[in-house]
Amino acid sequence: YSFDDAPVGDTPEEKGEAKALLGGKGAGLAAMTAAGLPVPPGLTVTTEACLAYRRHGSVFPEGLWSQTREALHGIEEATGKRFGDPENPLLLSVRSGAAVSMPGMMDTVLNLGLNDETAAGLAAQTGDERFAFDAYRRFVAMFGEVVMGLDGARFERVLDRAKAQTKGGRDTDLSPDQLRDVVARSKRLVFGDQHGTPFPDDPEEQLRQAIAAVFRSWDNDRARAYRRVHRIADDIGTGVTVQAMVFGNMGWDSGTGVAFTRDPSTGENELYGEYLLNAQGEDVVAGTRTPKPIAGMADDLPETYEEFREIAGRLEAAYSDVQDVEFTVERGTLWLLQTRTAKRSGAAAVRVAVDLVNEGVIDRAEAVRRVAPGALDALLHPTVDPEAEVEVLVEGLPASPGAATGRAVFTSDAAEAAAAEGGAVILIRQETSPDDFDGLVAAQAVVTARGGMTSHAAVVARGMGTPCVAGADALRIDAAQGRLTAGGHTVVAGDWLTVDGATGRVLLGQVPTVEPTLGDDFHTLMGWADDARRLGVRANADTAEDAAQAREFGAEGIGLCRTEHMFFGDERLAAVREMILADGSGAREAALRRLLPLQRADFDGIFRAMDGLPVTVRLLDPPLHEFLPDLLELTGEVAELKMALKGAETLAEMDRLLDASDTARALLRQVERLQESNPMLGLRGCRLGLLYPEITQMQARAVFEAAADCAADGVDVQPEIMVPLVSVAAELADQEAVVRAVADDVFSERGGAIDFLVGTMLELPRACLTAGEIAEHAEFFSFGTNDLTQTTFGLSRDDAGRFLSAYVDRGVLSDDPFQTLDQEGVGELVRLGTDRGRAARPALKVGVCGEHGGDPASVAFFHRAGLDYVSCSPYRVPVARLAAAHAAL
Ligand code: ADP
Ligand code: MG
Ligand code: MG
Repeated sequence: YSFDDAPVGDTPEEKGEAKALLGGKGAGLAAMTAAGLPVPPGLTVTTEACLAYRRHGSVFPEGLWSQTREALHGIEEATGKRFGDPENPLLLSVRSGAAVSMPGMMDTVLNLGLNDETAAGLAAQTGDERFAFDAYRRFVAMFGEVVMGLDGARFERVLDRAKAQTKGGRDTDLSPDQLRDVVARSKRLVFGDQHGTPFPDDPEEQLRQAIAAVFRSWDNDRARAYRRVHRIADDIGTGVTVQAMVFGNMGWDSGTGVAFTRDPSTGENELYGEYLLNAQGEDVVAGTRTPKPIAGMADDLPETYEEFREIAGRLEAAYSDVQDVEFTVERGTLWLLQTRTAKRSGAAAVRVAVDLVNEGVIDRAEAVRRVAPGALDALLHPTVDPEAEVEVLVEGLPASPGAATGRAVFTSDAAEAAAAEGGAVILIRQETSPDDFDGLVAAQAVVTARGGMTSHAAVVARGMGTPCVAGADALRIDAAQGRLTAGGHTVVAGDWLTVDGATGRVLLGQVPTVEPTLGDDFHTLMGWADDARRLGVRANADTAEDAAQAREFGAEGIGLCRTEHMFFGDERLAAVREMILADGSGAREAALRRLLPLQRADFDGIFRAMDGLPVTVRLLDPPLHEFLPDLLELTGEVAELKMALKGAETLAEMDRLLDASDTARALLRQVERLQESNPMLGLRGCRLGLLYPEITQMQARAVFEAAADCAADGVDVQPEIMVPLVSVAAELADQEAVVRAVADDVFSERGGAIDFLVGTMLELPRACLTAGEIAEHAEFFSFGTNDLTQTTFGLSRDDAGRFLSAYVDRGVLSDDPFQTLDQEGVGELVRLGTDRGRAARPALKVGVCGEHGGDPASVAFFHRAGLDYVSCSPYRVPVARLAAAHAAL
């Protein structure tokens, strides 16, 4: 399709179809052309053609070439130039563009159509030999790299050697003859490397090869990696846009730039971007020269700047969203090269959504839809503690907000390796290329020495909510040696750094960070989300502090309070061990009596923090040996005591050592006795309570006594006791009886009663299948989707790490089922359990308390399955609220 007869679409639906067919870039260019904006003429090869090419073993589908030729005639007519004509050559850019924007992931070739004859013609025609041969050497290098697959650094070296022979050392200092020489050497590079295949001089051949290369780039490693992380389908393909070149490198009244209609970091309503005079677009995007802020264009090219501002406003209005616009100025004439919906930080997404509602551009529901739940992550991220003493290593551009601490690494491979071991790293690069994508994903934060706010690193980091400082040009990086220097400091790989993406500072050492304060826009948007959602959102919290934090984030209760977390800490652990190791129930009860006041105090704090909201308390769940010392360590200790005994010199010492050794050996025997070959499926959950009812009694007593104390102070307490790991209804019946008996005791001791619920966790397939019988004893269900995933797949979460990623990489599983709910399998059990449970007890409350409660895709599923609430960690609560609203809209 030529830009001027490509489908554009009127309705949002038609526009979506046009985008799917032409790719975002092609569709945007066609729409701008239709709106009468200045766009260099061009054509777009459809995504369908790309898919056909892929399907048919890399051959052009029939008619592709003839139709391209035909549309090319249109470009020739519109420009008055001819492709391959030495007198008046038409040069082309060949650009990729899928329906979903993947910045920098696929390839672009500029200045296509040059050979010795057309380059000479271009020189004669423009009267600018230097310009013509600069374009030519760029073309050879880009074609060599992108189409022929040569290492781009080798072309750089050819150029660098030539630059070294000039006085100024910049590429603008090269004479036409030197540029001619660079071209010749670059071509020889191709010839040598391709085993004697000459550089294609025929423009048509160049075009054919370039289109095929763009098709192929859809399947390159970095594009695949990007799609995996951003969950973009592999089978939508890319469009190929072939467009007449305009030249930003024709002198100092020419230039090129990228601008956002609003600030993509903060959302402020102000034109934001960068430009370079006398440069081609790649110079800005690739970050090889650090560009100037767009406001400077008002001085350099005042009229063009005004025109651009006006057009930017029109584009934003037409798309009713912030646009990211690429433009080039050729000898004072403005040309638009791309417009797309701007990627933005979480903070900007929220602010823009709220502002656009206030400006009357979109409604509230649309505003809620516009903010991806995951984008809130960045908003909830820490910033550098303003009180902290900091030593600044270097300052750069604040390219992506958030603060992070980690150890310095200088290559993406090192970042990946360290992250795989669970280490926090800061990736430091001269500039990033799309090959660094995996490293960017692995790193806590990214720092680059070159490139601006729209450089690759900056765009990718913002999209992922990773803090980024870009263009820190005082950095001297020696990646090979793994070291850098700046401002008199030297940092070597492994040193700690802190990145403050909000201010653009890189700090030495581990600097404390503080939690974010959420602004008015955030609360406004979340209020709209709450109006829209049906699903309740609770938090998983085990302490009064976490509970308070969760409440601040909008949690409507606690969906999971894990009581075993209260058993850690020296004093408590000693009592817990005593309880576990007790010989008879008498001794056990004595130990439990020591635990009772501690647990009661914990519940007291939580109930007060959650005044007026329900709190689900789960009875003890993990296998008991988790509270005991490690078997190996203990064995070592026993052996050491034995050695010490041999060397004992006094009787008293011997006595003491014998005692210690007896105790240690008794402990060792106990630990051995409790050892299980598969603890995940062993004596844990309600099975503990069944064997040792005293534990359940103590926990229930702690809950009810705390509840009674709070109620006496006027606190509205709503306890819900949850029995874990039930597979048989009778297990729950047993534990329910224990809990209710304790409640009766406590309430009669204290006088008065408190409403409470008894329910269970559904985390075993058998429980889901027999949910009807279980519901007869349960007033609520909470799906423990972590265990339910383990037991449904028969896959141990602790061991799956080794192979699950291979499953996802090979597409055996579309996602890690521990992160995103497996809807067909585990989800089916959730549906079934809910339906059978509700059939038996219509008033049954049903929630979810696994990790999945904070995962947007899973939340959408739980909404559809008709659950009452999800429960997730406090920091995921806003994410879950927004995801629940998206699901309902
Ligand atoms: P990406 O998708 O990576 O942004 P583009 O296809 O937009 O790649 O091309 C990269 C850059 O090349 C653009 O930002 C623009 O500056 C330059 N460019 C592309 N087409 C043309 C053209 N027709 N004339 C001048 N410059 C162009
Ligand atoms: Mg672009
Ligand atoms: Mg569990």
